[in-house]
Amino acid sequence: MRTTQLYAPTLRETPAEAEVMSHQLLLRAGMIRKAAGGVYTYLPLAWRVLRKIETIIREEMDVAGGQELSMPIIQPAELWHETGRWDIFGEEMFRLKDRHDRSFCLGPTHEEMITSLIRNEVRSYRQLPLLLYQIQNKYRDEIRPRFGLMRGREFIMKDLYSFDKDEAGLDVSYKKMYDAYTNIFTRCGLVFRPVEADGGSIGGGFTHEFTVLADSGESEIVYCSKCDYAANVEKAELKASVQENIAEELPLKLVDTPDMKTIEAVTDFMGMDSTQSIKAVAFQNEKDEVILAFVRGDHDVNDVKLQNAVGAVTLRMADEAAIKAVGGVPGFMSPIGLTKDAKVVVDLSVMEMTNAIGGANQIDKHYCNMNPKRDFTDYLVTDLRLMCEGDPCPHCGAPVKMTRGIEAGQVFKLGTKYSESLKATFLDENGREKPLVMGCYGIGVSRTMAAAIEQNNDEYGIVWPAAIAPYQVVVIPVNAKNTEQFSIAETLYQELQAAKVEVVLDDRKERAGVKFKDADLIGYPIRITVGPKSVEEDSIEIKIRRSGEVFTYGKVDYLENVL
Ligand code: ATP
Ligand code: MG
Ligand code: MG
Ligand code: MG
Repeated sequence: MRTTQLYAPTLRETPAEAEVMSHQLLLRAGMIRKAAGGVYTYLPLAWRVLRKIETIIREEMDVAGGQELSMPIIQPAELWHETGRWDIFGEEMFRLKDRHDRSFCLGPTHEEMITSLIRNEVRSYRQLPLLLYQIQNKYRDEIRPRFGLMRGREFIMKDLYSFDKDEAGLDVSYKKMYDAYTNIFTRCGLVFRPVEADGGSIGGGFTHEFTVLADSGESEIVYCSKCDYAANVEKAELKASVQENIAEELPLKLVDTPDMKTIEAVTDFMGMDSTQSIKAVAFQNEKDEVILAFVRGDHDVNDVKLQNAVGAVTLRMADEAAIKAVGGVPGFMSPIGLTKDAKVVVDLSVMEMTNAIGGANQIDKHYCNMNPKRDFTDYLVTDLRLMCEGDPCPHCGAPVKMTRGIEAGQVFKLGTKYSESLKATFLDENGREKPLVMGCYGIGVSRTMAAAIEQNNDEYGIVWPAAIAPYQVVVIPVNAKNTEQFSIAETLYQELQAAKVEVVLDDRKERAGVKFKDADLIGYPIRITVGPKSVEEDSIEIKIRRSGEVFTYGKVDYLENVL
C-alpha cells in the first residue's frame, strides 16, 4: 500500500467529543468516522485490524469445534415473546415494523434465533455436542453510547452457542470456550484477566468475563495476589456485617453536608419524599468514606447518630484520575452506598459519572434491584456489600487488590433456560425427551480493537500489538524529492512485499516530520527510514514503535538476515 492511495485521513487536533484514548486515536489515525451516536464507519486501516482479530477468533473457534454460520440481523418479535425477552429487554432493543405492521427487532443477541433454528432439526443425543457461531453486527440502543467503539449502538460481536445433552457436556463446552478465549486474547497481544462475573439479565448462572486491563475501563475487578481468585465487583460481595462494624466502631466526624441536589437525588431514590422535612447530615469515617445520614426534619442535627437516621448512604471517594478521564469533577463522590441496615442506595445525580467509573453493570444492577419506583416494596439488598481493596480473599484470606478493565468477552452457562421456553428438546440414550443444555459465548470484536488501543498507546499515538496491527512496516524516504532515496525506498517496499510483509510506503511529498508523526500515530510496529546514509552507505534505519529502539542495518543485511 502507498500512502498516497491509502484512505486514512489523519487529524492533528484531538476531536473534542472524544473522551477516552481509543476514541481519540481511532479518529485521529483516520480509522473510524461517526455516522450517528454510537454508530461508526470503519475506514480501511480499522477494517484490517478488525479482520485480523476476526481471523484469530475464527481459528480458535474452529479448533475448539465451532462451526461458523450467519443468522439474520432482523428478528421477528414472536420469537422474543416465546422467551418473554421482548418485554424484558426494554429500551435497549431497536424495534421496527414492516409495512404489514408486524414487529421485528435488530438482533441485540441471538439466543432466541439460534435455539429456534435447531429446535426443529436436532432430535437425538447423537447430534450433540453442537457449537455454532457467527461474527456479525449487533444492535443495542445503549442508554449512553460513548467512548467510541467501546460502547456503540451498532458493534461487531462474535457469538457462539453450545448445545449439549447434559451438564457434564456443558462443562466440557464451557472449558473449551474458556481456553479458546484465553488463546484469543493472548494471541491478540493483550494483558487480560478472566474474572468471575454476575449472571445479570441474560439468565443462567455460571459465567466469566474476559477483562482487558486498562485504567479507563468501566469494569472494576477484585483479584488476589496470592491465589488465582478474580471477580468483578458485582460478583465480589461481602457480608454486610463487615460494613456494620465499620459504621459502629469507627469514630465519625461531622463534615459539610452535600448540596441539596445530591440530597434530593438520594432521598428520591430511597423512596423518601424530600419535600417532607428531612435533613441530611454528613459524617466522615477513618476510611475517608462519607456517610450521609437522613433524619426527620424536627431532629437536632447536632445530635445525630446513625442509629436514629431514617436512612443513610456511604459515599466512597472515586479515584481522581478516573473521574478526570471521563470529564467528571474530582472531589465529587461515588454514589454507591450502604447503610447500617444494609440498604444500598445510588445517587442518581452523579449516576452518569459512576456509570463510567464504577462500571455500567454495577449501576444497572443496583438500579434494577433498588430503584423503589420499579420495585417498590423490596429495594433492599439485605446482606451484601461490594468488596473493597484490602478485604479478605474468599479463597485464601489474603487481602485483595482492585484494578480496572474492559469487558471484552464473556462466557456463560445458560443451562436450559432458553431450550425450555423455546421447547428445544432431544431424545437421550434411553429415548427420553430432554431440553438441550446450552451455553453462550460472546466477544466484542470492535470493542476488543478499542481495548487494545486503551492498553497500548503513548503520547504519540497507537502502539499496536504486532498480531493485530493494520500493517507491520512503514517505509519512509526522508526526502521524497531526492530521487535516489526514493528509489531505494521503492525497491525496499517491493522486496518486502515480495517477502509477504504487510508494508506501507509513505510516498507523499511531505516533510519527514509529518510522515514520522503519522507513522507514530497509526502505530506501525516497525518504521524503516531511508535517508542520506542509505544513499551513501547503503544503510537503513529501523525503529521499533513500542520500545523506541533504533537500529542501523545494511539494506541487504536487513532483508536477508533480519526479516
Ligand atoms: P456491557 O456490560 O459492557 O454492557 P454486556 O455484558 O452487555 O456488555 P454481552 O451481552 O456480554 O455484553 O456481549 C458480549 C460482548 O459484546 C461483550 O463482552 C462486549 O465485548 C461486547 N459488547 C457489548 N455491548 C457492546 C457495545 N455497546 N459496544 C461494543 N461492544 C459491546
Ligand atoms: Mg457486562
Ligand atoms: Mg450491556
Ligand atoms: Mg457481558
